[in-house]
Amino acid sequence: MTLTSAVDAAYLVAALLFLGALAGLSRHESARRGNLLGITGMALALVASVVLAVSTAERGALATLLLIAAAMSVGAVVGIWRARVVAMTGMPELVAILHSFVGVAAVLVGINTFLGEGYAGAAGVSQRIEIAAGVLIGAVTFTGSVVAWAKLSARMRSAPLVLPRRHLLNLVVVLASLAMSVWFVVTPSLPPLLVLALLALVLGAHLVASIGGGDMPVVVSMLNSYSGWAAAAAGFMLGNDLLIITGALVGSSGAILSWIMCKAMNRSFVSVIAGGFGADPVPGAGDDEEAGTHREVGAEGVAEMLRQARSVVITPGYGMAVAHAQHPVARLVERLGELGADVRFGIHPVAGRLPGHMNVLLAEARVPYDVVLGMDEINGDLASTDVVLVIGANDTVNPAAIEQPGSPIAGMPVLHVWEARDVVVFKRSMATGYAGVQNPLFFRDNTQMIFGDAKAKVEEILAALSP
Ligand code: NDP
Repeated sequence: MTLTSAVDAAYLVAALLFLGALAGLSRHESARRGNLLGITGMALALVASVVLAVSTAERGALATLLLIAAAMSVGAVVGIWRARVVAMTGMPELVAILHSFVGVAAVLVGINTFLGEGYAGAAGVSQRIEIAAGVLIGAVTFTGSVVAWAKLSARMRSAPLVLPRRHLLNLVVVLASLAMSVWFVVTPSLPPLLVLALLALVLGAHLVASIGGGDMPVVVSMLNSYSGWAAAAAGFMLGNDLLIITGALVGSSGAILSWIMCKAMNRSFVSVIAGGFGADPVPGAGDDEEAGTHREVGAEGVAEMLRQARSVVITPGYGMAVAHAQHPVARLVERLGELGADVRFGIHPVAGRLPGHMNVLLAEARVPYDVVLGMDEINGDLASTDVVLVIGANDTVNPAAIEQPGSPIAGMPVLHVWEARDVVVFKRSMATGYAGVQNPLFFRDNTQMIFGDAKAKVEEILAALSP
């Protein structure tokens, strides 16, 4: 067995382990095993790649090993530090910035491949196409992910950027990028490749900037898909089969997830990937001015309401995650059960900041799975519910999605909490949610607001309900 065939065999095993990882991650019972398979596959792939690089290095094995070790150490130190300190609520922005690294890597590999083999005249037409595709997809992924990171971490407003003639602008940039790609493939030189990279950087930033807050979950999974295709393009350029397979797995699974999320949120897939095409916001629909008067209630009042209630539904959102309120919420469920109420949870598919966010928090607080229902399972029961507790949720319970066709979140399915007899909304102020849209729920006759940190308020209610 030669070294290359041993490395190829290791790559094949790693690819199979990645397939096993994806299969495992599709159900929460097997998610832990899926993660383990993924980690094993990645460790094997890393060792095989380093061995191959070191043994075939032109500048000497030791120098190559030292270079790789230095780069990996810096990456490992930064990566381990970030992974240890990141809060659950910060995961989507971390994922977004990690996607940007894949994008920038594909651009650099593209330019580097050209500088090496292109100048030497060794790059054939197919390799030039790979270089152009890698640079284009990589640059779009890079700036798109940086803008997504800025929006998710509130460094940029989440409202869509609406430039005049923005769709025409995108079209012109796409056509110009294609022209540069053709120029580069026909007569390979650095200027068209660099202009292509520049145009793609602008395109990525603009596409994501023009998508509104409510559609960000789809954008994040779409960028995940792009990062996969960028990695696959890099794999072609580097002649690395495993990178091609892994990139294709990430690219296609990200695309499938985006598709599923678009269907769940009643969004057009094409509209989201084309930077909100056909979904121009109506002026004023997303402003955050107050739209009526609201009623306030204190912890004692909520406790009294809950004492009388036979059926209670809790719809948590991002605020429950921020407040770390899941443990007192779990105790509240227990206490209400002791008082004879039927308590269930209604979980919106995009509540929080990452798919499954609320389910993870509730599982952490050991809330039994059988009382945690999805939006479609609970919506039909809300009209016969005595009290709904909206704990730190906003966009996912906004009736404007159904009642205001011009709203930026129009058409997004929401939890029909307003159909219940009484609704209590836990939040700190009258501020809007992630999508930046005012919520008419707060001004309904059957809604009362309890202001303050959700954890503190739930604890006060628990104290008032204690025997
Ligand atoms: P929202 O982001 O719409 O609203 C959360 C609310 O929680 C805010 O209005 C805020 O009000 C309140 N809040 C924040 N901190 C606290 C606290 N400590 N105590 C009490 N309340 C608090 O949440 P939803 O979960 O309803 O909706 C999720 C949104 O995020 C959707 O627009 C979705 O599209 C988007 N999104 C979802 C992703 C996903 O994959 N799940 C990924 C990216 C975006 P106040 O400031 O007044 O307290």
